[in-house]
Amino acid sequence: MSTFRNRILKVDLSTSTFSEESFDEGVVHDYLGGRGFGAKMLYDRLQPGTDPLGEDNLLIFVAGPLAGTHAQSFSRTKVFFKSPLTGGYFKSAAGGFWAPELKYAGFDAIIVRGIAEKPVYLWVHDGKYELRDAGYLWGLDCDDTHTLIREELHDPRVRLACIGPAGENGVRYAGIFTDRRAAGRGGGGMVMGAKKLKAIACRGEQPVEAADKEAFASAIKEQLAAYRANPACVNFAKTGTQIAEFTNLLGMYPVRNFREGVLPNWQAIEGDAYAKLRARKEGCYACSVHCGNLTRVYTGEYAGAWTEGPEYESTWAFTGPMGKADIGLTIAADKLCDDMGMDTITAGSTIGFAYELFEKGLITKKDTGGITLKYGDNRHVMDLLRQIAYRKGFGNLLAEGSIRAARQLGHEAEKYAIQVKGLELPAYDPRGAKAHGLNLMTSNIGADHNSGYGGQEVFGSPVPFPVDRFEVKRKGELTKWNQDQTAMLETGIICSFVPSWGGITEEVFGKLMAAGTGTADFADVKYLWTVGERIFNLERMFNVREGFGSKDDVMPERFSTETLPEGPSKGHIFEQNELRRDYYLARGWDVDTGIPGRAKLEELGLAYTIGK
Ligand code: SF4
Repeated sequence: MSTFRNRILKVDLSTSTFSEESFDEGVVHDYLGGRGFGAKMLYDRLQPGTDPLGEDNLLIFVAGPLAGTHAQSFSRTKVFFKSPLTGGYFKSAAGGFWAPELKYAGFDAIIVRGIAEKPVYLWVHDGKYELRDAGYLWGLDCDDTHTLIREELHDPRVRLACIGPAGENGVRYAGIFTDRRAAGRGGGGMVMGAKKLKAIACRGEQPVEAADKEAFASAIKEQLAAYRANPACVNFAKTGTQIAEFTNLLGMYPVRNFREGVLPNWQAIEGDAYAKLRARKEGCYACSVHCGNLTRVYTGEYAGAWTEGPEYESTWAFTGPMGKADIGLTIAADKLCDDMGMDTITAGSTIGFAYELFEKGLITKKDTGGITLKYGDNRHVMDLLRQIAYRKGFGNLLAEGSIRAARQLGHEAEKYAIQVKGLELPAYDPRGAKAHGLNLMTSNIGADHNSGYGGQEVFGSPVPFPVDRFEVKRKGELTKWNQDQTAMLETGIICSFVPSWGGITEEVFGKLMAAGTGTADFADVKYLWTVGERIFNLERMFNVREGFGSKDDVMPERFSTETLPEGPSKGHIFEQNELRRDYYLARGWDVDTGIPGRAKLEELGLAYTIGK
């Protein structure tokens, strides 16, 4: 008995054929599950130079090893692919209920390749599978797609991962949506749209049972007790991810395309303001935290709008980039992005980038279709989002993301694209938190806060050591620690919010993984750290094979040449060269090229990647 199904479904959409695989024991031992499986499968099965939108790109859906059990915050999915936004390795996670349903249907993972002749959806149920016509669903938003597939299958309990119009129309930051949760970043929805795969529907009844039921139940008890005793967790359960108060008080809430660090009137979009609009609590399968809030606008221009969330990043995406705190717009715009199926962070950030280009005269009304973009005026945001989703008018350019749009425009537009490796920065100004910024600069998927969150700098966590957020010294070591710990915990695909508020220790994580899967080594914390580092380096080697290196670990010029003008982070820059060197040394990578050295790769069991 194990929480693993030991069953991977492979679908080739070009030939409408299926096959199955079981696990390689060596891979399970060396990579544990979740992110480890995804990284390994993508590295082994994708040729370098693969077109992200071609037949050969893969979409790999992996359910967490403990998904479908009562282990807290583990019932999540990760999707792996070569990104059409960054051209590199990508992973994107979603909560909700899809991963447990895939396990109940009898599988741990689904690998999709090829391109269907016409729109289809995949129906996986009770160990069986089939492709079904999705012609009548093409063009529908994510909500309607959920409704109609459930009606067609005569089962409201069916869970879906689907795309909306943005994925079908080729928005480079289209995501994959399950109920109102999303694997939002990096363009997985665009890959799915290029494959003409509208959705994957799952339903099953096969229970997921731990290898050692008693030890598993006891570890869950420990986990629940830790959640209840942790004030940060209790607070998180109340307000969700709304941390605009924290980041504004630290002076690192990015405003006007990262020119400022404090949003005027930020109190209008912090936790208490959302609490007043809360209609009910929402959450993911087997998570007592229930951090999601269904919010509704009761008055004003956006009266009647509702959404699940928005969480902190989406709140920022429709306030900071436009330089205006408007809670109604955040709710309406978040729902529109969920319906259209696109990433709020890149959408909002790319619009904010266009505002700056307009201000600087690099684009005019001729480019925007007659719209004037002016900081403090957010009236056109909803229209722009619709234009992006359907690639109409000015939205066709913005659908490319900021760096591609900048390159098409030419002149000095590139300077204002706030991205790393093509992925737009999230809602933290790196000048106010150096390790957090260093993670954004070196993450394998581009500027992703969840790949190595600097909780020490944002929330003052003293583990592994207390820090001064502006200090440069030891930030390489700290960033490596944050990234390796994240990679380790993502073998279980535990929700990334849990470690950020100190909700789990490596010991409890190891006990759960070992008792659930039946692999005793997973309880060895030292071993878990090695696996985390192994995964991070393997992802790096995927990108090295694609031509990435130190030239891609670069922050936009603004952060090293312009200080923050006001607020608690005033006067600071991001010392990128010093930080990068320190980080490469901590990682055992070449300080000039940023490529992992032979000794490091051999030490991690990754010698097979050398010279590839
Ligand atoms: S903490 Fe929130 S997002 Fe994370 S698993 Fe729990 S309910 Fe889902």
